[in-house]
Amino acid sequence: MADIPKLYGPYGSAAIAYAEQFPAYGVNAAWFHMFDESAFDACAQAGIAACVEFKIFRADFAQHPDLIPIGVDGQPIRYGRLVQGVCLSKQWFLDYTEENLLAGVRAYQPAGIWLDYLAGAGWFEEPEPDLQEHCFCPGCIADFCDTTGIDAATPAEILDRHQAAWTRHKCERIARFGAHYAQIIRSHLPGCLIGAYMCPWTPDEFGGALTRIFAQDYALLAPSIDIFTPLIYVTKSGRSPAWARAVLEAAPNFVPAGHPVQLILDALDFPASLHETVASVIPSHGLQMFSGAEIFRDPAKAAIFAATLEKMQRNS
Ligand SMILES: [Zn+2]
Repeated sequence: MADIPKLYGPYGSAAIAYAEQFPAYGVNAAWFHMFDESAFDACAQAGIAACVEFKIFRADFAQHPDLIPIGVDGQPIRYGRLVQGVCLSKQWFLDYTEENLLAGVRAYQPAGIWLDYLAGAGWFEEPEPDLQEHCFCPGCIADFCDTTGIDAATPAEILDRHQAAWTRHKCERIARFGAHYAQIIRSHLPGCLIGAYMCPWTPDEFGGALTRIFAQDYALLAPSIDIFTPLIYVTKSGRSPAWARAVLEAAPNFVPAGHPVQLILDALDFPASLHETVASVIPSHGLQMFSGAEIFRDPAKAAIFAATLEKMQRNS
């Protein structure tokens, strides 16, 4: 863990407008969506680490309905505006994702790449999330049967008789993709940090949905991922600010040793969740602030952020 730098900064391209102020606030990094040339330039000028959030399994379902995973009833799953996850048997989409990653790592030298939506389908930033088992398209069922040697043809048969194997298979499938993308990054950019945005739930919450629905198994992902970033969006998820601290303190129960946890907080919850993060017995290894521009466009908030970062950096 010693060689994984502690990076502190905002997430979101709108925050980049304030990049030249960052060093004065103790901010040493910024995260932004995909390989954004102007964001790289601004980070270089400010002397801070440029980190890319790279979209893995997320697509516009209205434009590409073939990517919508199939639910237990044989129909495309229900979804809202912010759904993540796709059917993993659509080779054109997998090729497209890989080409985008390759183009980025060939053209830029980010300090880190955080894989986003390296997960099964659904949406977890909700007080009462709509969790649906998936994907039961013919391709995904065949992949399950071929990989596990289990002979099962229907969603009911799979869930009634092979739930544990099905969940395990889905987690291993996501982890294999994670390993493949990590290998692409490491072969082009040795030294580039690899992070993953995570469903913030413990393995027991919502009936094991972390693995059963989102197919994110920390132990399986650990060989590929240097640092894990659970999304602590308190207001959106209907939680209390103490959730930030609770997640950090529970993490050693399910995150493999040697893999630091770095929270991403939401500016909407500022500063309460930040204060709870600082109060945690187990520190966050650096910090991201989603919608960080909200903090930096208000000098009073920026001053609170800077003072709190200073405290975090002193304690850790
Ligand atoms: Zn499928």
